Amino acid sequence: MIISEEEIRNLVRDSLGRKRANEILSLVVSDIIEENNSKGVALTEDEINHLVVEKLKAARSIGSAIQSLTRTSQGDSSSLSKDDSPDAGSIGKTSGSNKLTSLNPNAADTFRAFINDATRNKYSIRITSAQRMPSHQWNLRFGNRRGITPAQPCRSDHQYGYAIDINFSYEKDGDKVRVNSKSSDELWKPIVDIARSHGIKWQGASDRVHFFVQGVGSSQKAKCDQFFADELGTGTPSGRSGAAIRKRWGSASMKRVEDENPAKIKGILKLAESDLRNIIKEKLKAAKSIGAGSGSVKATTSYDTSGDNKGCDGEGPITSSKYPKSAITAIEKRMDDKGITSRCTRIAILSVLAKESALKPQTEWCYTDKSNSEIRNIWSKFKSWSDTDLNELKANCELFFNTAYAGMIGNGGVESGDGYRFRGRGLVQLTGRGNYEQYGYASNPDALNSLPAAADVAVEFITRGLSDLNFDNLEDAIKAVANVVAGKGNTEISEHSPLGRAIRMATATSKHFA
Ligand SMILES: [Zn+2]
Repeated sequence: MIISEEEIRNLVRDSLGRKRANEILSLVVSDIIEENNSKGVALTEDEINHLVVEKLKAARSIGSAIQSLTRTSQGDSSSLSKDDSPDAGSIGKTSGSNKLTSLNPNAADTFRAFINDATRNKYSIRITSAQRMPSHQWNLRFGNRRGITPAQPCRSDHQYGYAIDINFSYEKDGDKVRVNSKSSDELWKPIVDIARSHGIKWQGASDRVHFFVQGVGSSQKAKCDQFFADELGTGTPSGRSGAAIRKRWGSASMKRVEDENPAKIKGILKLAESDLRNIIKEKLKAAKSIGAGSGSVKATTSYDTSGDNKGCDGEGPITSSKYPKSAITAIEKRMDDKGITSRCTRIAILSVLAKESALKPQTEWCYTDKSNSEIRNIWSKFKSWSDTDLNELKANCELFFNTAYAGMIGNGGVESGDGYRFRGRGLVQLTGRGNYEQYGYASNPDALNSLPAAADVAVEFITRGLSDLNFDNLEDAIKAVANVVAGKGNTEISEHSPLGRAIRMATATSKHFA
């Protein structure tokens, strides 16, 4: 139950464009931490999940304010590209592609949504240029251009698939109004407003046809520069005059470089995406570790899975400043009954349960806001489902659970209603008719959400699944307990597997018990 990297990325992309992702996620994370701290409560993963999603949605509304932070990079060409531009990003063509599909996939989705929105509002948009290769840009920059000065090669967002140039038209009083690079800002305004509502930025008067999604850093562009400088043997001469730049790029033999290194150059131009992924990954780790009640983003940018926690050599009742004492006491009492004497096992059980429910018994949340990839990761049965079908299903919480848990853990088919009726509850998120019957809660599922019943069931459930009750180190204990509780039959421990994440979360959580 962790917000996936993909979800965060999509949300941020939908909200603001990628360059701001870093800052916005930081804001979101520190916001949640502040709230968490001021309330003095421990949040469950689901709650954090939900908060992050909600806050990112809210962040969308500040998107327009952020738009005013204009980029410092140069403008580029407008009207050169023709309708008959070559296909998606093909190398060696002079003018590049005018197809959305030539763009970075995330940017393409954003631009597509913008264009659809504009179309609904009766504006007819024509893309005059989308992705271009550096050689296209060279021709633009040094060819017979007039008016604006296009960016030099490697410096245009078009090359990374983050920009489009457009013209548009609409009907007014029976006439067709055409808007292009020469048109006034006022004529551009309605379409600029629509673009902004999608987090797309406008270059403005210096290049009115140019719309872009922020996201390509200067270090990225420098990599591209360096590659061509090396290949062309021109070094990296400094100077910003036209002549200096021209010299730096040698000649239009850039096309040859591209022809000879198609994979390499495409790889270089794609790096922006992986850079973003890394940024998000770091932020995501920080966001996730709030689940452990961290008080500081800095201190928790990654999970520690090495087991070098405080260890399990304390004495007396286990304490926590984070989680409810009543639940800890109830769980400890039950562990006493079961002969669990190892403090490692005891802390592992508390940590895994805290990860599941913050030691507050509760009902499993709907999956409406979950990404499809996350859902497919949890239930392999959905791997064959199309996004459309899955989107429709998850919008209906009850039907979703009925389908997801159908025919497993003692449940009947979808129509039996068992999946929803016996969805996860309590401290351990007991799931399925078979389990509810076994523990005596089939006729009264909601009773699982109170203490001490929730503690009894949780400890009993975990104990039954453990081959060793008394581990001598925390790492092994957490792995074993997490496997019982969160394995869902999938014992793969990897960065993205449900079990791998459960172990990381529980390990982080364990630091809050002593
Ligand atoms: Zn442009």
